[in-house]
Amino acid sequence: MSPSPPYRGRLAPSPTGYLHLGHARTFWIAARRARDSGGALVLRSDDLDAERYRMDFAQAMLADLRWLGLSWDEGPDVGGPHAPYNQSGRRPLYRAALERLRGAGLIYPCSRSRRDVIEAAGAPHEGGPDDEPVYPAAFRPDPRAPVPPIGDTVGVNWRLRVPDGEELAFDDGRLGPQRAVAGRDFGDFPVWRKDDCPSYQLACAVDDAGMGITEVVRGEDLVRSTFRQLLIYRALGLPAPRFYHCALMADDGGARLAKRHDSLSLRALRARGESPESICSAWAADGAAGA
Ligand code: GLU
Repeated sequence: MSPSPPYRGRLAPSPTGYLHLGHARTFWIAARRARDSGGALVLRSDDLDAERYRMDFAQAMLADLRWLGLSWDEGPDVGGPHAPYNQSGRRPLYRAALERLRGAGLIYPCSRSRRDVIEAAGAPHEGGPDDEPVYPAAFRPDPRAPVPPIGDTVGVNWRLRVPDGEELAFDDGRLGPQRAVAGRDFGDFPVWRKDDCPSYQLACAVDDAGMGITEVVRGEDLVRSTFRQLLIYRALGLPAPRFYHCALMADDGGARLAKRHDSLSLRALRARGESPESICSAWAADGAAGA
């Protein structure tokens, strides 16, 4: 058996708002796990959402993470062998991956609107990548139909055809064995969006593999996305990393923390005189970074 490669972890914040305590806890755990493994940590800016991206958020997210006491070995501000570390600068890599998926006959253009899918699926949804309703099989094109070249299609989503009925599994570092059935727990999902932007699933898998990440640490709201990304790794012949999904933080009323919780943003905590040590020591005390 060949020895496993040295640990490489990553922080992948999106500059679409100020980071809150929930993000901070996940990133702190990611940094701890990299440090405890004697590994490297990469910071990648997930700045593909042109509508919600703001430069001041991008600057604030780096400053807030540094204030918290985190540091990284590679990133947009420090460079590194896998630059650029902003997803907006990595488009050719995503595009090449898309062409490979097309060449393998695994994707198809889809002109159905989100509303069509939601109505046909009859499922409630909240809007996050994991809440995507299962794409109805009736909307799929005939698998024998020729797939048009990507450049010929404008304003459509490209979806990956999932292997219906196949059970996918991975062993999560915190949650243990995880399983999902393709076509039942999640359906065909976008890899390229009609606004001509790669989807989160595609960009994330291409970058985590391309940057040699060995363990992805993120919130447990993304467990289902992990199954989608496992299909992308497999389709592209890329090695999948290990996964460690952290518990999510809730506010006093039990609602999951979101960027709208301004009072729990790192900025607001800092302005109120909280120290990074007091914030992080509570997590260290409850053993948040796991084994
Ligand atoms: N930028 C994504 C987010 O903030 C990253 C998710 C991930 O860690 O894969 O939700």
